Amino acid sequence: MINYPEKQNLLDFDLDGLKAFFQENGEKAFRATQIIKWVYQRGVIDFDEMSDLSKSLRIKLKDIAEIRLPEVVVDQKSTDGTHKWLLKLADGNCIETVFIPQMSRGTLCVSSQVGCVLNCSFCSTAKQGFNRNLSVGEIISQVWVAAKTLGQYEPDAARAITNVVMMGMGEPLLNFDAVIKAMRLMMDDNAYGLSRRRVTVSTAGVVPAMDELSKTISVSLAVSLHATNDELRNELVPLNKKYPIKELLAACNRYVEGEFKRHITFEYIMIDAVNDRPEDARALVKLLKGMSAKVNLIPFNPYPNTQYKTSTQEAQDRFTKILTDGGLITVTRRTRGEDIDAACGQLAGKVQDKTKRSIRYMKSVGG
Ligand code: SAH
Repeated sequence: MINYPEKQNLLDFDLDGLKAFFQENGEKAFRATQIIKWVYQRGVIDFDEMSDLSKSLRIKLKDIAEIRLPEVVVDQKSTDGTHKWLLKLADGNCIETVFIPQMSRGTLCVSSQVGCVLNCSFCSTAKQGFNRNLSVGEIISQVWVAAKTLGQYEPDAARAITNVVMMGMGEPLLNFDAVIKAMRLMMDDNAYGLSRRRVTVSTAGVVPAMDELSKTISVSLAVSLHATNDELRNELVPLNKKYPIKELLAACNRYVEGEFKRHITFEYIMIDAVNDRPEDARALVKLLKGMSAKVNLIPFNPYPNTQYKTSTQEAQDRFTKILTDGGLITVTRRTRGEDIDAACGQLAGKVQDKTKRSIRYMKSVGG
């Protein structure tokens, strides 16, 4: 038996990793499937409740392994049904996860890093700098906690989480391996069993990792474009200096034409008088011409001390019309969960700040 310095968190494995773990410890690989079903389909994390494991295996597991979840510091529900969790990790860092219910689906917005290195000028996560990557367990825990709160593990419950978007804090493609493994669990039929169309990675445009992604796994890809020329995009998304628009779009084309033939969604944030003029819309039509692409317009979500403002409704409508007339399928993302700061780009704030705010919140609710 291998000696682990501390107990191995089983949430850090995808199915193959867990099989290997069992084999290294002299157990049969199929145990991995049993455990994954218990944890992700039934929400059971106590080895003693896993009735198809032998007593001796349960004792052994308790000795070498654990199922370690983050602590739920805040669990808030908005008047529009949006749900937000603030989760405290073992090292004290906090991350947020948001659930957005819509008519026939429920989308969970999941974080991939504590902070972010990319420093996009409009993003509140950028203001806290980069702290660290999340582990597989810390990523999949967000789904576990949300599913638990939403009652998804109750017998015969309908699936509450139908879609996952890696659009929380961080740049998922800069935490590649952990994000891939966590997404494998989201799509594994023994775990959450989501279809590959319903799991989306959102990237600011890490070109080499996009190529790697297309060879590794089939998921939906969203690309945060936000500008149609390099000058403006360098300012909004500084990563553009490394991978300019032309290279980014070439990578998008490779992704679309690659092994899995996926289509791409382009995200375009609507910032007043910055990128929302009719000529910007026309440039966007020209840029995406001939690509199998959808455009997701995201009205800029303001937060304290930002220099930007949200586009007016008029500018948004005008922009949308030009895109639609130009043949682009265009969807505007409605702002949700405003009363609990759950909206896009608010999914962070300074961690310290957030923790204090959460403590204030806990006090206010008598916790
Ligand atoms: N790093 C990844 C994923 C995280 S951000 C990426 O860049 O895609 C998820 C989406 O929210 C991105 O499109 C991002 O540009 C957008 N976003 C960030 N801050 C925002 C804000 N204040 N208002 C609206 N959208 C924002």
